Amino acid sequence: MTIAFIDLAAQQARLRDDIDNRLAAILDHGGYIMGGEVYQLEEALAKRIGRKHAISCSSGTDALILGLLGLGVKLGDGVIVPSFTFAASVEAIAVLGAIPVFAEVEACSFNLDPSRIADALAAGVAAGVNMVGMLVVDLFGQPARLDELSAFAEAKGLWLLDDAAQSFGASWKGLDVCRYGRVSATSFFPAKPLGCYGDGGALFTDDDQLAEIAISCRVHGQGRDKYENKYIGMTARLDTMQAAILLSKLTIFDDELVRRQQVAMRYQDRLGNVVAVPRLSESATSSWAQYVIKLPEGVDRDDVHIRLKNKGIPTAIYYPRPMHIQAPYSHYPITIGGLEVTDMLADRVLALPMHPYLDDATQEVIVEGLKSVL
Ligand SMILES: *Cc1c(COP(=O)(O)O)cnc(C)c1O
Repeated sequence: MTIAFIDLAAQQARLRDDIDNRLAAILDHGGYIMGGEVYQLEEALAKRIGRKHAISCSSGTDALILGLLGLGVKLGDGVIVPSFTFAASVEAIAVLGAIPVFAEVEACSFNLDPSRIADALAAGVAAGVNMVGMLVVDLFGQPARLDELSAFAEAKGLWLLDDAAQSFGASWKGLDVCRYGRVSATSFFPAKPLGCYGDGGALFTDDDQLAEIAISCRVHGQGRDKYENKYIGMTARLDTMQAAILLSKLTIFDDELVRRQQVAMRYQDRLGNVVAVPRLSESATSSWAQYVIKLPEGVDRDDVHIRLKNKGIPTAIYYPRPMHIQAPYSHYPITIGGLEVTDMLADRVLALPMHPYLDDATQEVIVEGLKSVL
């Protein structure tokens, strides 16, 4: 028996006829770029999230870059960001010539620690950087403390951009995560909670000017017509075919969120006294993009990974190396007080198989396998 880390085939079997029909309709109408399905998706997303603008684009990374362009980020501007995240969160800042300033995260949620955020701001200021904003990440689907972080940003005159690439569908204090911040960004990479069959992403905002810049920059900074260029932009549209696939997947997304929550609860019941399992704040719901445990101190993680693999149980390590030690990013400022929790997490985290179609019996094999290896 081979166990899937993420089972996209089970989901496809459920939707295959609908997807085939939607793709056939596009082959018939031929609107491959910005076809009607793209606008239909944007409307559905804006309605679901409850924000004025939902702007689709070519990836989660491009959603972050378009968001930063919309916020007016300039060369040398400083942006607070966690080091314990996927590269794109930091890359989007650095590729625009802005300066990531690394902040510390909480061991329990993997997300920015509000009690340490002032230390990061102080580090940026001490380095002579003009601090303009905070890029917050909801890692593994679990929301950051978005209300506290928003309050801090507001008090300090900073904007907040929420990187919800992994947390589409999650909520904090009853509000969808994509409702927080001046702008939020998500990814539709196939393995994300809502994924297409290629690359895709979206950003959400209530700010008309920000939306105008992002929509323009998605097509070369286009102005009144194709050949007026108002901004320096890029090619960052979502394909019509990917929009159609997302429209299909949206019809079962809420059901999938319920299933993911059930899978997470079963892991918690069976592993809660064996390893450190993720515990959600009472204010949070998670989209469970990943189920990440922390192994006990001193356990050889690579050995656990290999032994489980030999039993047919796939695991993954997100992320073995934090961003502040990676070559292209190692010269950027680090928070006052250092990144001890970040370094600890990078050494101890292990992601278990997680998807909406993980059944009880298979999960039991994973749980027993992990227990026996430990
Ligand atoms: C996946 C991811 C991104 C980038 O999304 P892509 O669609 O792969 O470009 C950004 N931030 C985080 C936290 C991610 O997990």
